[in-house]
Amino acid sequence: MPKGVERLVIIGSGPAGLTAAIYGCRADLSPLVFMGTQYGGQLMLTSEVENFPGFRDPVMGPDLMMSMKSQAERLGARLVQEDVVKVNFRTRPFEITTESGQVSARAVIVATGANPKRIGLENELRLMGKGVSNCAVCDAFFFRGKRVAVVGGGDTAMEEANFLSKFASSVQIIHRRAELRANAALRREAESNPKISFVWNTVVTDVLGAAKVEGVRVRNVETGEQSTMGVDGLFVAIGHEPNTDVFRGQMELDEKGYAKVRNGTESSVPGVFVAGDVRDFRYRQAVTAAAEGCKALIDAEKFVKADLAAAAVS
Ligand code: NAP
Repeated sequence: MPKGVERLVIIGSGPAGLTAAIYGCRADLSPLVFMGTQYGGQLMLTSEVENFPGFRDPVMGPDLMMSMKSQAERLGARLVQEDVVKVNFRTRPFEITTESGQVSARAVIVATGANPKRIGLENELRLMGKGVSNCAVCDAFFFRGKRVAVVGGGDTAMEEANFLSKFASSVQIIHRRAELRANAALRREAESNPKISFVWNTVVTDVLGAAKVEGVRVRNVETGEQSTMGVDGLFVAIGHEPNTDVFRGQMELDEKGYAKVRNGTESSVPGVFVAGDVRDFRYRQAVTAAAEGCKALIDAEKFVKADLAAAAVS
């Protein structure tokens, strides 16, 4: 672990963290990046990405992340493949602890992302990117003229279904209850869409298909009846979990655990900035996360400059 006080530590290595690292190098902050043991974020589980600007042809999610990582490395970011296990944001400089030691930093950017909740089926994971998806905006295009199912009854599920209906031939929303949680406007939009139908009181018990999704096994929770639905895609939209466990009690989180920001990208702790899905449950795109990484870095750079100037005076 490096000695001395770091100017900037970045926690996370998805598009937000790595963009902050790239900008951080160019701002001469020599950022130390804790990438996590499973680095790269959600794009590591995606196949083709067609909506990240700058690529004429589709790019594989992991390839895109490897390019961002190499770019950050080439510019001089110090990338460490370790999980942060503890932070102390109540002291200055801040303390960041990993399995192998502790560093201190003048400023921190938290870009730990969020994970889509999974149903928890083995084949759901196996067929991820091969018909199973958590992002209609990213993947709907690949389901033109195909039959898809969406799991969930909240705002996200309705938005996913409405979006998918522009491409798919049919969209079946599978919900574990007979009442939607989604807001009235999104609900009405889905209910009045001729391509969308609802499968109530039903849970998915298996995802079928060898190389790609061919159907799902479902169980009616009222009757216990089991059946198979033939679909080419399964969109799981049952919520997200922000990766903020390690920051609990150290900075303000909302009731769902997302980091709160008050001024630009600054968290409730001056000097700690947040970027990407760890605070954004609305847009959740690689390009919006990257943009937030850039913004957080610009805010952090100002903070570090002022902090160094204050230290020089005292
Ligand atoms: P959510 O509101 O938590 O809804 C999750 C849905 O998935 C619920 O219908 C839930 O069922 C179901 N579910 C949860 N776990 C499940 C499981 N293991 N198996 C099957 N179904 C399961 O999540 P969200 O829709 O992602 O929304 C998250 C937040 O973002 C909300 O505050 C939402 O209002 C906001 N949001 C807003 C917009 C917008 O305003 N345009 C768009 C997207 C999201 P139950 O209903 O039975 O609990």
